[in-house]
Amino acid sequence: MRDATLCLTPIEEDGGHFESLAVPVHRASTIVFPTVEAYQTRRQAIYDGYSYGLYGTPTSRALENRIALIEGAARTLVVPSGFAAISLTTLASVASGKRVLFPDTIYDTVRPFAEQFLASLGIRFAYYDPLIGAELANQLEPDDALIWVESPGSMTLEVQDVPAIVEVAKARGLKVAADNTWATPLRFKPLAHGVDFSVCAISKYLAGHSDVVMGSISVSDPTLYRRLKDFTRYMGYGVSADESSLVLRGIETLAIRLDRCEQSALHLARWLATQDAVRAVRHPGLPSSPGHAIWKRDFAGGTGLFSIFLAPWTRPHLAEVIESLELFAIGASWGGTRSVVAVLDGPPVRTATRLDHDGPIVRFSIGLEDVEDLHADLSRAFARLDALRAASASVAPSDRVIP
Ligand SMILES: *Cc1c(COP(=O)(O)O)cnc(C)c1O
Repeated sequence: MRDATLCLTPIEEDGGHFESLAVPVHRASTIVFPTVEAYQTRRQAIYDGYSYGLYGTPTSRALENRIALIEGAARTLVVPSGFAAISLTTLASVASGKRVLFPDTIYDTVRPFAEQFLASLGIRFAYYDPLIGAELANQLEPDDALIWVESPGSMTLEVQDVPAIVEVAKARGLKVAADNTWATPLRFKPLAHGVDFSVCAISKYLAGHSDVVMGSISVSDPTLYRRLKDFTRYMGYGVSADESSLVLRGIETLAIRLDRCEQSALHLARWLATQDAVRAVRHPGLPSSPGHAIWKRDFAGGTGLFSIFLAPWTRPHLAEVIESLELFAIGASWGGTRSVVAVLDGPPVRTATRLDHDGPIVRFSIGLEDVEDLHADLSRAFARLDALRAASASVAPSDRVIP
């Protein structure tokens, strides 16, 4: 054969023993078959085998199997983002004329998705009080098809009574989907509590290094898996082997990262609660946080994401103080190795409940830095906040406290 062909022919393996601890990265668009018949029946292979790179490779399947193990799931499906997992689960479960229920604390992109996209398909939706528990039964309608839970909500951290909501849903034959991104399957296992779809934004703790966007949907019922897999085909969703490999690596350290993030977060959250500027701290592991007793009952632990509710007088000084932090990057995503802080633009949108807080909300994702360095950084910032207040000519005469 000539050079141009020699650049392309398969390389014989040399036969020496090779085994690595890493899952190999199998990149593929084209997948090749040994026979014409295998090629012609390839579409049956999308569920359990391999037919085309978009529908899975041994690397993405290894990741799905890893997540299924920690979720206690029959099957897991990985999709291009956490939000893709939410939209796919919803579209595979709710038809035109039916209604889907979301907690008022649901991930914020759900609202435009519901109002502009679901509505255009004739799918109805409503929001409910995340703390309502079994009383959700009183709000159900005959056309309901799916109830979402997000416990705790990723901005204001209310823990929901998921078992009570599952019981209400089962009594009516409704499906329940959980956005379990905060807890990860190491801290809460939705499927063990009867949830039908356990959804996780892998982009956060599972990937864990702020460099991958991916989502997962885990189910106990293999027929739900097949339906979801069909929908990924209709939507053209797939994930790359390279990114699957990064997530497989991230999951290897998930348990120790979560332990460290939780420990540091609680240490800092307790200290922040003592600060004049802080009205409330929301972390499910603190007794003052809504749903703490349910968290204690149902969860195996906490993680590193929490929020603080600041007094309104902090508002004019907040940007300066947050920008002065040396160890906290300003950003929206979370769950990585580096500490990140997010400042809410305004009060979170609530349409079914009222948030009794009129000051800024700041959310911290605590990373793996030494907690004493993080503490020192925050101490400097909060001392600066107090100094700015004292120096300000426009100090409010008294802080308005909403009952
Ligand atoms: C980030 C996030 C999502 C969306 O995940 P992406 O991968 O960014 O699309 C969904 N739910 C929660 C709670 C999140 O924090």
